[in-house]
Amino acid sequence: MGKIRIDEEFCKGCMLCVNFCPQKLIQVSNHVSKKGYHPAEFSDPQSKCSGCTLCALVCPDAAITVYKERKTDVVKK
Ligand code: SF4
Ligand code: SF4
Repeated sequence: MGKIRIDEEFCKGCMLCVNFCPQKLIQVSNHVSKKGYHPAEFSDPQSKCSGCTLCALVCPDAAITVYKERKTDVVKK
C-alpha cells in the first residue's frame, strides 16, 4: 500500500501522471496554483495506491513523492 504527495509548486498540470496511474487515483484539480496551472491532486479513499511509483517516474517536474508502507516502517522513494 502506498500514498503520494504532489508538490503544487512544481506541478504544471501536464496530466502525465493522471494518464499513467493504473488505479486512476490522480485528477486535475479545479483550483489554480500560484503559477497559474491546474495542479494534479491525489484522491484514494479506498486505499488502492500500490506505491508503484509510475506517477513519479513519468512526472517531468519531479513534483511527486511516493511513500510505500511496509509492515514496520514507511520508506520514501
Ligand atoms: S504510486 Fe502508482 S498507484 Fe499510486 S498514485 Fe502513483 S501511479 Fe497511482
Ligand atoms: S506529471 Fe507532474 S507536472 Fe504533470 S500533472 Fe502530474 S504532478 Fe503535475
